[in-house]
Amino acid sequence: MLVDDDALEQLRARLLRARESPEAIALLDAAREHLDVALAATGEPARARATLWRALDAAYDAVDRYLELLARAAEVPVRCGPGCAACCTEAPPVHAIEGLRLARALLERADGGERVQRAVDQARAFQAMLLARAQAAGADHVMTRTRLYRETQEQWRRSGRSCPVLGADGRCSAYAARPLACRVYVSVDDPAKCDPRHPGFATLRRPALWASERERSVERQLARLGSALSLPAAPNLQWAVAQLHDHPLTSS
Ligand code: SF4
Repeated sequence: MLVDDDALEQLRARLLRARESPEAIALLDAAREHLDVALAATGEPARARATLWRALDAAYDAVDRYLELLARAAEVPVRCGPGCAACCTEAPPVHAIEGLRLARALLERADGGERVQRAVDQARAFQAMLLARAQAAGADHVMTRTRLYRETQEQWRRSGRSCPVLGADGRCSAYAARPLACRVYVSVDDPAKCDPRHPGFATLRRPALWASERERSVERQLARLGSALSLPAAPNLQWAVAQLHDHPLTSS
């Protein structure tokens, strides 16, 4: 059954209630505690690496359990089918620490170098698209998170390139290391509208699974981790992997 405006409003109310359950609050608290451990580890280079990655794994595990709980408690009518990779034509936003974690996960595999090269090629293509759009608009510099950037993201999706991490089987090949943006993105709408060429694409109904102040506080910790490691910020996955794949921490 398709979700209309009233049903979407009711879903928002259920999500608000689900977020305030003691179990949900405890899971986000756990995620934040693990991120605190990761942050402390950034100041201790010798033994930091294993602690950092372990703490990040535990934090994302808590976030996954939190999102599962929200979806279950709020009865989110998710329409994403098994194996559907329609949204994996995105250039998903990432925190720098997520780009580093993903690059590390890719480089642990036999096809890692090839996938990193794909990310580098896509980052260049994305930047060229962004620059061309800026020049056409007469902008003298390119800012991310602006209308120009959003329009470039849409153009990127319509171009139909698959994420460099997407496997030949249509599944994310680094599922455990995928960024937060890929975890919180679900559709409750007609799957046909997930195609950027569909006329209804711009109005695709997606519940906000990650929008509260408590959830944003987890993101602030992720951002702090990047700052603590002096990682360069990057607006999307491809860009981040291109910048960070040769960082010393990817081989730890
Ligand atoms: S990281 Fe994985 S889930 Fe995210 S867009 Fe790429 S293939 Fe899809």
